Amino acid sequence: MNDTIAAIASGITASGIGIIRISGPEAFAVLKRIFRPKKAADPTKYRANTIHYGFIADPEHEEEIIDECLVMIMRAPHTFTTEDTAEINCHGGPYVMKRILGLALKNGARPAEPGEFTKRAFLGGRIDLSEAEAVMDVISARSGDALKSSVLQLSGSVRRKIDHLRESIMNELAYIEAALDDPEHMDLTGYPELLEERLCPLEEEMRTLMSTFGEGRIIREGIMTVIVGKPNAGKSSLLNAMTGEDRAIVTDIEGTTRDILEEQVAVGGISLRVIDTAGIRNAENEIEQIGIGRARKYAEHADLILALFDTARALDENDREIIRLIKDRKAIILLNKADLESAFDENDLAELIREELSQKESFPEELSTKAFREGLTLKTGIQEALSEKADMQGDSFERNASLNTGSETDESNNIVGIPVVRISAREMTGLTDLENAIRSMFFSGNLNAGEETIITNARHFDALRRACGSLSLVKQSIRDGLPEDFYSIDLMDAYRSLSEIVGEEVDEDLVNTIFSKFCMGK
Ligand code: GDP
Repeated sequence: MNDTIAAIASGITASGIGIIRISGPEAFAVLKRIFRPKKAADPTKYRANTIHYGFIADPEHEEEIIDECLVMIMRAPHTFTTEDTAEINCHGGPYVMKRILGLALKNGARPAEPGEFTKRAFLGGRIDLSEAEAVMDVISARSGDALKSSVLQLSGSVRRKIDHLRESIMNELAYIEAALDDPEHMDLTGYPELLEERLCPLEEEMRTLMSTFGEGRIIREGIMTVIVGKPNAGKSSLLNAMTGEDRAIVTDIEGTTRDILEEQVAVGGISLRVIDTAGIRNAENEIEQIGIGRARKYAEHADLILALFDTARALDENDREIIRLIKDRKAIILLNKADLESAFDENDLAELIREELSQKESFPEELSTKAFREGLTLKTGIQEALSEKADMQGDSFERNASLNTGSETDESNNIVGIPVVRISAREMTGLTDLENAIRSMFFSGNLNAGEETIITNARHFDALRRACGSLSLVKQSIRDGLPEDFYSIDLMDAYRSLSEIVGEEVDEDLVNTIFSKFCMGK
């Protein structure tokens, strides 16, 4: 921590401005060797939070001017790293940035490791580990929801919750220790019952936090989504409408999308990892068949299937095949080409779907049990183990009910329980309805507020799970009538697990691993 580091903090691609960040006790001395200010002054004497205009020059090459720049001066401890920091704003060319960084390195700084600036902020006590991890999440956020949850975490939302839990546990630990040390003045009669009562809300708080993790994962990583539909249904057009780029090739020739394209796209605030598959049909062409096989495989493993139907053409056997793919899966039916006149009656599609989905004699029991099971795994992943939420049961019953009625397209826009959205991939209409359908399928609803603390990090989830386990052990010891020092051991374990989240009980290796995942210059 006592050397001076430097790195390019902006991206190393051609851009308007490039930033070279220098941090450490020698930051201003390094700057002085390479910066020639317009107004003669000593850069090591600059006041904090000031900006200076000048040039970067190479002292070893007859003061050759490398670039014109602005230099920002931030003084310890009120900086991101808590150390003296100089940031050189130069022109954003990869070559010029590398030259300036090279000069800083030749003149007293060493190259920063990935994440080292943030690591210094953590080691300097400016942020805790959960906030440091949030810095990374803000940088890698790919949707509004992901950004919202990581900014919230960056402002200390997770830390505040964890601190509150730790403080409550520490109070109990202190009380037990004091009473054991001084039995004459402190009596523990009746305390175990009281402790059990107090632990319940803490455990509840932890479980609530843990229950956000399933949604948190989806927010952070995106919903693995597969678009299926017969050739020319508009799969590539839909992907392009969602990405806003012409990544997929849109053509009138059937079977042009032969390989798999994956795109991280945001539909409104939700991040989707969309896989554009080869058109599903009975292909004779071998290459195309490989593509279709893969499409089927992806559909089997996806979190969500977007089943695209071309309303401008009559329903056919290929559409039937698509319906088979969505059987028992989380799916949304998209009626594409809403801008054109429809070539089939929606009731015919409903009929086809009903026919296909009720093929097996096990219907609807098998489907409903599976939907229920899937609801659990898809909605939360790990939450399943924690609590069998009543509302999920509700979901599945609702779905079951609508399956039983065998209703056709109803007012709530679903066919036998599968949401239906009308879109025009070409005209880009209906995307908001699609977003709403996905939201109600995957999120419990309160994430929109952006105020709920969400656990997005598997490390935090694991620590919470262990802390919760330790509290259960305390409760067990109380019920078994074990002596108070038994409680202390497990309470201490719970405290330690929680402390790992904020980075107080972690070993150096873990800290290094976490920061090594950061990008260069951060
Ligand atoms: P894919 O084979 O399923 O990927 O289909 P494409 O995205 O390549 O689209 C096939 C054809 O349908 C292209 O000519 C598109 O322009 C057209 N298309 C796609 N979506 C729409 C839509 O919403 N409305 C209309 N009118 N045409 C569309």
